[in-house]
Amino acid sequence: MTKIGIIRCDNNLDSCPMTGCFTCLQDKKQGFSGYEHTTLTGVMTCHCPGDDVVAKAKILKAKGADVIHLCTCLFSKRTEGKAWSLGNGFCNHADEMARRIAQEAGITCIKGSAHLPKGYTPETFSPATAQA
Ligand code: SF4
Repeated sequence: MTKIGIIRCDNNLDSCPMTGCFTCLQDKKQGFSGYEHTTLTGVMTCHCPGDDVVAKAKILKAKGADVIHLCTCLFSKRTEGKAWSLGNGFCNHADEMARRIAQEAGITCIKGSAHLPKGYTPETFSPATAQA
């Protein structure tokens, strides 16, 4: 059983109840397709400019999370055709946040949750490989 923590963006707090994220986690699809069994440890909200994201990741880790996923909407945007494409998400530095989470909180961080952009493979930032 993989215990998963999710970090979302407060810019989307009042618009999305994370239905896609939770459904995909439960069904092991999209960003969660690599797991055999999943359970949700919890969700934390990151506030711009993201200075507190490592602290949020540490809380999720302390609550038992094995891995943290950043919501897809941080780094992707829904197009008019309703497909999602990379870029223009709520956060301009999702890569930097994922790297800091891996390095400073010591937990693997994966970019992606629901409705992955076509051709996008979720990027994994592991504590062992995150660069300073
Ligand atoms: S990734 Fe999709 S479902 Fe998850 S919080 Fe963002 S908009 Fe909502």
